[in-house]
Amino acid sequence: MMEQEENKTDVIVVGGGPAGISCAITIAKAGKQVVLIERGKFSGSKNVFGGAIYAQPTRQIFPDFEKSAPIERKTVEHKYAILGEKDATVISYKNKSEENVSYSVIRGKFDRWMAQEAEKEGVILVEETVVRELIVENGCVKGVRTELEDYYANIVVLADGVNSLLARQIGLRGKLSPKDVALSVKEVIKLPQEIINERFHVNNDEGCIYQIFGGPMLGMLGLGFMYTNKSSVSIGLGVTLSELSEKRIKPYELLEELKKHPEIAPLIKDGELLEYSAHLIPEGGYKKVPLLFGSGVMVCGDAASFVNNLHWEGTNLAMISGKIAGETAVIALGKQDFSEQALARYQDELEDSFILKDLRTYKDLMDGMEERASEFLGYYPKKINSFFNMFTTTDSVPKHDKYWTFIKSFFKDRSIIEPFKDLWTVLKLLWSILK
Ligand SMILES: Cc1cc2nc3c(=O)[nH]c(=O)nc-3n(C[C@H](O)[C@H](O)[C@H](O)COP(=O)(O)OP(=O)(O)OC[C@H]3O[C@@H](n4cnc5c(N)ncnc54)[C@H](O)[C@@H]3O)c2cc1C
Repeated sequence: MMEQEENKTDVIVVGGGPAGISCAITIAKAGKQVVLIERGKFSGSKNVFGGAIYAQPTRQIFPDFEKSAPIERKTVEHKYAILGEKDATVISYKNKSEENVSYSVIRGKFDRWMAQEAEKEGVILVEETVVRELIVENGCVKGVRTELEDYYANIVVLADGVNSLLARQIGLRGKLSPKDVALSVKEVIKLPQEIINERFHVNNDEGCIYQIFGGPMLGMLGLGFMYTNKSSVSIGLGVTLSELSEKRIKPYELLEELKKHPEIAPLIKDGELLEYSAHLIPEGGYKKVPLLFGSGVMVCGDAASFVNNLHWEGTNLAMISGKIAGETAVIALGKQDFSEQALARYQDELEDSFILKDLRTYKDLMDGMEERASEFLGYYPKKINSFFNMFTTTDSVPKHDKYWTFIKSFFKDRSIIEPFKDLWTVLKLLWSILK
């Protein structure tokens, strides 16, 4: 009992990613004691993402982050590349406005910077320490057990990422099923800054994001991505584990194919491989959100399945859920009430925020996409490219005939019922999003 009192703090946060750091800094800024435990050598050393962070939510935690954070490039262009076997249709959206921008960052640098900022606010950062299990007494979480010692706290916040073994230990969530999780592989390819500027048509501090459909992932529940950093390009893809095991495909083989595609290859030509990594992404959405709190415990970020996969958002949901968990912890500390009822505020605030509202908006998306993946991510990307092929080819065939051949192909390629099934799924999805 003596040891318990000595090692006791107000709050322990497990996981030094965007969720955990945002939670810890919120608590420290309110003058409470908080210990942040990260298993990596430093925050970000084990973290993988595309990726871009979003200025508006990041400013809520780090108001002036643009002045000192290690930012790579400001996104000024989003490209949506629909790849056929050898051809591609690319839609581009450009915006150089300063409002609500996103920035490409490298997590090894960015998370480390966030953790250092948290330390400046008084967060006690414990790195290279794995939390093995939670200490639970009479159904209430009392602390954490690491390899070396036990630490006690009034509240423990779980921000330990997609697998969250700790939330599983206390029954807040179950094991993720293969269809609710995507395996992502990514390479960082070094290229001179000027070459990136030239190939992606951007200036020094400007960046471009590619979202990639089809190509080697044709017909699979998976997408590719490419982000420009200062002097490297991050390229990768993610496919659900269920697709990978069903089709017996290895994701790095798909990535090799993607890198060879005629639309992609010239962009990364002569680049030097700097880094290869793989990571899981929770894709289950609203239906897979676990129990978010219990007596003395809250769950945030990827550990709570807070990822909006349609919009490629994860870090913002992680940061804001961490902030809300932190604010809830501060209120609970003020009242010295760490019961389940007291921490229920966390769920209430999440319900009122964009986090659960957005996840609820897309709650049926994955089911719909899964049902018709081979159509929406296979057949139609092919059709879009074949339309442009037909439209741009000059071959002395009358245009009227070409249009009718194209329209009739929708009923010839597949059974006549399929287009109606697609339409039905689209209408169902639209209804579930807009209602
Ligand atoms: C390939 C890929 C691309 C992505 N692209 C984007 C993007 O462009 N934009 C975006 O917003 N999001 C993107 N995401 C999602 C985003 O990365 C996550 O949503 C976000 O990192 C979640 O933050 P988190 O803090 O909850 O978890 P994490 O970032 O996973 O952090 C969890 C931390 O907990 C630590 N940890 C785990 N277990 C323990 C333990 N037992 N003890 C101590 N420490 C522990 C880990 O080492 C880690 O540092 C992408 C994800 C992937 C995989």
